[in-house]
Amino acid sequence: MLQQFNPQNKDIQVYVNDGLYHRDAAKVSVFDSVVQGGDAVWEGLRVYDGGIFCLDRHLDRLYTSAKTLAFVDIPSKETIKKAIFQTLEANGMRDNVHIRLTLTRGEKITSGMDPRLNQKGSCLIVLAEWKPLVYDNKNGIKVITAHIQRNSPRHLDSKIHHNNLLNNILAKIQANIAGADAALMLDAYGFVAELNGTNIFMVKDGVLFTPHADACLHGITRGLIIEIAKNAGIPVVERNLSLTEFYGADEVFCTGTMGELTPITFIDGREIENHSGSILLPILKELFIEQIPVHSEPLPF
Ligand code: PMP
Repeated sequence: MLQQFNPQNKDIQVYVNDGLYHRDAAKVSVFDSVVQGGDAVWEGLRVYDGGIFCLDRHLDRLYTSAKTLAFVDIPSKETIKKAIFQTLEANGMRDNVHIRLTLTRGEKITSGMDPRLNQKGSCLIVLAEWKPLVYDNKNGIKVITAHIQRNSPRHLDSKIHHNNLLNNILAKIQANIAGADAALMLDAYGFVAELNGTNIFMVKDGVLFTPHADACLHGITRGLIIEIAKNAGIPVVERNLSLTEFYGADEVFCTGTMGELTPITFIDGREIENHSGSILLPILKELFIEQIPVHSEPLPF
């Protein structure tokens, strides 16, 4: 599950601020806000067969995150799209690509956390790499519950997709030490929130359940799966869900750009065993794959 260096990415061009640079020359300043305070927002996107999946939804979320953090000069959607297209074209990338899109608050005049020290405008980074899905979405992943809770809106709203990822990184360290693939994170009340980098669903007796998007990122894949399931007549319930309900579920899976829909086979050493015989995951996976071209913005080159 640990990603390896892909030699195909040895000479990629990366967009930073105003143009393209070889990966070795693509840099941000030591005065940049992302260095000074993790003060940046980001999106992870995938390119499938000549199109960018859910591009507008990702740009909407990026915009909302940047607005919440009071960035002052957020580039227009058109500017960001142009930078993405330019990067993909320069690298000849049309499929099997992951894009890490980052917008930092930009360079500061001196070190410090105060946003008033940012006087040079924001900094846009488009890092496109040849990359298969990170999770094994056929064989599934094993997860453990982390002791660290997912951020609540009272502290740092998990709906902001920001680069201060230590909440998730601490959980991932715990999973790594336990030999698990990912960490399951609870909310402030002990209900299941999400995994450290994906959202979580469970199936019981033919009903699809997922936690409220209160202490998790409102994932774009999550939203689409809810839409797809409802359109297919599958009952969907968003509510507080405890670990006990997940241990006893018929199916558990996670959703996100890093794994599409990936089965979860073990939670805290408890095997997820389907006793009811109702099977939704393969159906949802197939419907999701069908929707990829429908929701992808074609590349203009
Ligand atoms: N949860 C977290 C914490 C994430 O970082 C991500 C993706 N970056 C997701 C869920 C999945 O979101 P999406 O479906 O938009 O990729």
